[in-house]
Amino acid sequence: MDRAKYDHVVKNFFTCDPAALTEILQELLAALSAEETLPPVHAMSQNYETAQANPEIHILPGNLKDARDAIFPYFWGTDGWSSPLHLENVRGPANYASFVGAVACLLKNPNLCTDTYAQRSNELEVKSVTALANLLFYHTRDPWGIFTIGGTISNMYGARIGIEKVVPGAMRQGLREWGRVVGIVSEASHYCNQTIAGWTGMGTDNLLAIPTDPSLAMRLDRFAETLDRCYQRGDKVAFVIPTFGTTDAFGVDDVEGIRAILDETADRHGQPRPHLHVDAAVGWVLAFFSAYDFNDNPLHFSPDLLALLKRAVKHARGLRYADSVTLDFHKMGWGHYPASAFIVNQKSDLKYLSRSVAETPYFAGADPRRDPALFSLECSRPGLGPYTVMASLNGLGLTGWQLLVARSLELADKLKDRLERLDYCKVLNRDTTGPSVVFQVYAKGRDAKAIHREVEEGTMTPERYARFASEVRRLFEKREKTMDPRNDARLSFTTNIGYKPHGLSLPAWKAVFFNPRTDETVIDRLIDSIEELV
Ligand SMILES: *Cc1c(COP(=O)(O)O)cnc(C)c1O
Repeated sequence: MDRAKYDHVVKNFFTCDPAALTEILQELLAALSAEETLPPVHAMSQNYETAQANPEIHILPGNLKDARDAIFPYFWGTDGWSSPLHLENVRGPANYASFVGAVACLLKNPNLCTDTYAQRSNELEVKSVTALANLLFYHTRDPWGIFTIGGTISNMYGARIGIEKVVPGAMRQGLREWGRVVGIVSEASHYCNQTIAGWTGMGTDNLLAIPTDPSLAMRLDRFAETLDRCYQRGDKVAFVIPTFGTTDAFGVDDVEGIRAILDETADRHGQPRPHLHVDAAVGWVLAFFSAYDFNDNPLHFSPDLLALLKRAVKHARGLRYADSVTLDFHKMGWGHYPASAFIVNQKSDLKYLSRSVAETPYFAGADPRRDPALFSLECSRPGLGPYTVMASLNGLGLTGWQLLVARSLELADKLKDRLERLDYCKVLNRDTTGPSVVFQVYAKGRDAKAIHREVEEGTMTPERYARFASEVRRLFEKREKTMDPRNDARLSFTTNIGYKPHGLSLPAWKAVFFNPRTDETVIDRLIDSIEELV
């Protein structure tokens, strides 16, 4: 072996050189600040054609600058989402406390599968899930949790517990002998629940979606009927996954109401109670206001905002009735990916996921209290979640979080008000307590509220509505073509907000207030651009 070449590799890639690393970090930061002066569009066009044709690998060992050069064009060609004009979706700029946590994590690179490979980083995971559990459940005795790579996987943990609760032994024997095993969500729930139904082997046909009411919340009457029907025909109901903050319109399901119906119906039919897992991937941040002093109002929120937050706190109380919750820190936690947490109210529920030490021979001597690999879906697991979450929670503090979230809700509410005043606009989620605004824009001269009233009353035919729907879409596309990327906010479009009166899917423009630097001038310009357009 050529020892000199080998030593070169070890020196350049396994010896920490603070000067070389800091220099590259400074260069990346300089590129980042240059980007912040540009409008929010891709700085560089994509080149998929040769990405596959030329997947080159260097021949000779180089240095850290080669590593930099290998990724730089792609780094530069990726939007950091820092512009206040980004209103498209549940996607924000990551906060820099999270960055500090992430860098610390990367330097140590713990593997959270077991205590042996993660030492105090595992302790940090326990600390952060407990902090989050206290926020969600308010007072709870024995919560536990785990970080996953996303809301999809966190929901899958909840679904999997449910399956094992009603089909004991399914982890070993599968679902075959048990007839139909079903799960229940709302029509406004995230599509990841379909993924889960498919991937757990339950089958997407067995995921039942309950219609929502105009506030995008699951209809309890229809839920009760469906549940009863399931039991009458002998189905095993494994789980119900209410949504706490739907992705498009921020509908919040009534978790307390669902819990009451669920337990009563299961008991009446002599069936085990299904697992109640709440998908709060987006909406969990409302829990930050549970301890806010609404009388003293120390942060001087306006009376309108206070009223909105009081409603939010009422919703958030529902979380206390959940058996488990999904919470995405990489959404309204303004954190880095991946940072989703799956949290159970009672640790004992994790027994439905557990494997014996015999089934995990790599981890002989493992202890479930410290070694999540005994019940986790993943084997190796990144430490980014706990590091970014604890750094963010304590960097910003409860008050910082309250200010950030309240500002998002305040701006969304202001835009809703402004849009509702235009005859040819209709806001479809006026009463939800989240950062998103879904609305329809018609040609000038139309009465948007009257059109919507007909939809709700059931006097609108699907054929007529299809023409209105295409007008909403056409105007959105016209704005996309004519907008000035330097001044005009970027919005997105949804073909179905999740509420389907008389079976009609409602299309809408969507604006989500997620960037802390977005302000009223962006709203003013948005309203002007709509008035100029129609
Ligand atoms: C985003 C989202 C998910 C999926 O979460 P990922 O982290 O993207 O996997 C699930 N549920 C809701 C309500 C969401 O908004």
